[in-house]
Order: sequence, then C-alpha cells, then structure tokens
Amino acid sequence: MPAAIRKPLMIVGAGPTGLAAALFLSRRGVPVRIIDAATQPTTTSKALLVNPRSLEILGQSGVAASIIAEGYEVLGVTMHRGGRDVASVDLGRELRSRLPIGLTQARTEALLTEALSAKGVQVERGLTLQTLQQDTEQVTLTLQQADGSTQTVQAPLVFGADGARSAVRHALGIDFAGNALPEPWQLWDLRLRTSLDRQRAHIGLVPDGFLFLMHLHAGVWRVIGNGADPLAHLPGDSVPGEVLWQSQFHIAHRLADKFSVGRVALGGDAAHIHSPLGARGMNLGIEDAWVFADCAFDAMGGKLERMQEYAELRQLLDGQVVRRVEAITRLMRGRPASLRWLRDHLAPLVIKFPPVRRRLLQTMAGLDHPLSTRC
Ligand SMILES: Cc1cc2nc3c(=O)[nH]c(=O)nc-3n(C[C@H](O)[C@H](O)[C@H](O)COP(=O)(O)OP(=O)(O)OC[C@H]3O[C@@H](n4cnc5c(N)ncnc54)[C@H](O)[C@@H]3O)c2cc1C
Repeated sequence: MPAAIRKPLMIVGAGPTGLAAALFLSRRGVPVRIIDAATQPTTTSKALLVNPRSLEILGQSGVAASIIAEGYEVLGVTMHRGGRDVASVDLGRELRSRLPIGLTQARTEALLTEALSAKGVQVERGLTLQTLQQDTEQVTLTLQQADGSTQTVQAPLVFGADGARSAVRHALGIDFAGNALPEPWQLWDLRLRTSLDRQRAHIGLVPDGFLFLMHLHAGVWRVIGNGADPLAHLPGDSVPGEVLWQSQFHIAHRLADKFSVGRVALGGDAAHIHSPLGARGMNLGIEDAWVFADCAFDAMGGKLERMQEYAELRQLLDGQVVRRVEAITRLMRGRPASLRWLRDHLAPLVIKFPPVRRRLLQTMAGLDHPLSTRC
C-alpha cells in the first residue's frame, strides 16, 4: 500500500454502489468510512437481477458465490402478446458467460454488507452529508447525526454514491441533465397463481403499454407496468393474490455533466439514472464502484489524475448505456399508439434476428463494453 494512504477515504451512501466501492477498496488495504443517512438498511426488493458483469466483478470477494447460492439462475425471457407467447430467448444458449441471477436488491446489499463487515468496516448509519468543500490537500465534510448535531470530518478523497438526489452532486454544482417520461409506472411484489415459468423473465406487450414480470421467491412475483391497469393484463393463466409491496415511480434518463471534481467523484444513481428495462441500474453502479476503487487506490498514493481518468471512463460508458436503455424503453413502453403498433409487430420479429438479439442480451448482461480501469 502506498505510504501516502493514511486518513480514510469517505464513501457517502451505502446502497449497492457505495457498499461495493467500500468492499473493493478495503480488500486492497485502503482505509474507508462509509456513511448513510438511513438508520436501517433497505428492505424493499428494487433491483432483481445481478448480471454476469457484476458476478465477474464480485467473484474474488466471494460475494458472487453467495449471490449464486441464494438466488436463482434466470434461464431466459419470454415475450407475450394477446394471450400467446410471441418470442422467447434462452440465455444459456446465447450468453457466453454465467447466467444472470435473480435476487432482490435488499439481499444483494445484505451480502455486500456482510463481506464488508468481514473486512472490519461497518456502515455508519444515521449520518447525513450536509456540506462539502475541498482544497488542494483534502475534502471537508459536514455530517448531521440522527439527533440533529453536526460533526466536521476531513477525507483525502470522497465517493458520492448517495443516489439520484445526490447531495454530493449538488455540493459540486454538477448538472444532471436529461428527460423524464410522463406516465407513472406501477410496481407490485405480489403472490401470483400462475403456470408461468419461474426461471424466466416475462414481458407483456399489452394494449395500453408494457408489462414486466419476474419471480422473486416462493410464489411472490414482481410486476411492473405503465398501463392504466397492468394487473388486468397478466399473461397466461396468472391470477394476482396478496400484495406484499406496492409502489409507483416515474422513469427519467439523466447523466451527470461531470463525474468528478478534484478529489470528489460520483458513481451509481448519483451519476446516472435510467429505466429499469435492461436491469442495469444497480449493476452499472457496482461497475462504477470497481473502476473507482482501482483509480482511487492510485489517487490515494498520489496519482490524483486517476480521479479524472475514472470520470472520463465512466461518463463515456455510462452515457452510452443510458442512451441505449432509453431507446429500448421508448420503443417498448407502447406509447403513443402509432409506435405501439410498430412495437407489437416489430419486437417479436426483431428479437429473432441474431445480431439484434445478441446486442440486446449483451446490454442486459452488462457485457456491451469491455471492463477497463484505464483510459
Ligand atoms: C422501485 C424501484 C425499482 C427498481 N428496479 C430495478 C431493477 O429492476 N433493476 C435495476 O437494475 N435497478 C432497479 N432499480 C434501480 C436501483 O434500485 C438503483 O439503480 C440502485 O439502487 C442504485 O444504487 P446506488 O447505490 O447508486 O444508489 P441508492 O441505492 O439510491 O443508494 C443511495 C444511498 O445513499 C443514501 N443517501 C442519500 N443521501 C444521503 C446523504 N446526504 N448522506 C448520506 N447518505 C445519503 C441513501 O440513504 C441510500 O442508502 C429500481 C429502483 C426503484 C426505486
């Protein structure tokens, strides 16, 4: 470890991005602190799919093995329209990698937290970043504790992994330009009586929008849709039962104007947000964390230019993913009606065309670009 590594690097936010960064850095002997405003870990499912790129990245730490042991292999995707299966893809045949694993984000975060704890690092909860300033030597942060009192701390580097409304991004004055889709999307985790294959993800091309279904555990499924009544259009013989979690969200596509300023960098939802189609949100954050850890290791040893290198690498690649996922979402959401007709007729055909299918699957798997920590 370079001699210049002394004070802990500060990670703001203990979602999957911050936890992964803390784990990768501590495995390389870099002292870290990780804080989160929330007093308790998240319990909601949110992201459901750990993709092959994340499994590759999390391999050495042993977290990938825990994810594989606890989750299930997603074997394929089936597209339904008008009561029929109109297309299907088998991932085992198509992907030259591990299969994606179905596991809730809450469990993925718990497994990352356990691995981090085994390295002697605990998430410091109930600490909210309020202000941040930097000079040529260090970053000074003001943190508010759960009882309202504040403390001031210094860190050589900061990673802002504090989600879409990032206080770090605001403190740096970085713009988060993009656009939002107008319609609300509904989400349910609910019991479903169905003969749908539990090891496949299911897409519904429904009359007034788009539907997505994936099995969570023991007969509980995630359903999301943007139509007026998504549960009225469930594919096959599916009958909805008890609702365990219901939520509503809006989809936006945004990219931070810059991914770093001096000693402070952004990653995960703090730097980019996009629709859940393609299942990249959490996975892209884990990849940001991997690249950040490599660059920050060098920066802690004096090569501060690596922070800028991180920013350039990730802004380029994350920007490409955001644009690709936005294009897929705009085609698949089934609005306006003129585009819906095109989608209903083109999507089942196009997915049978090998180069397009391969590209779509690489996007979902996170294998649409090489994993690089160097410009
Ligand atoms: C309903 C829903 C469904 C989703 N479905 C999917 C899906 O199917 N697939 C997928 O890939 N993605 C999905 N996502 C997106 C995915 O959850 C995010 O991309 C992922 O959580 C991003 O991780 P992150 O660590 O960057 O940010 P977050 O998970 O948002 O974590 C940020 C953390 O920072 C903390 N924080 C915030 N402000 C401060 C502060 N000032 N000081 C200290 N701490 C702070 C927060 O408490 C939080 O714990 C979904 C999201 C939602 C909301």
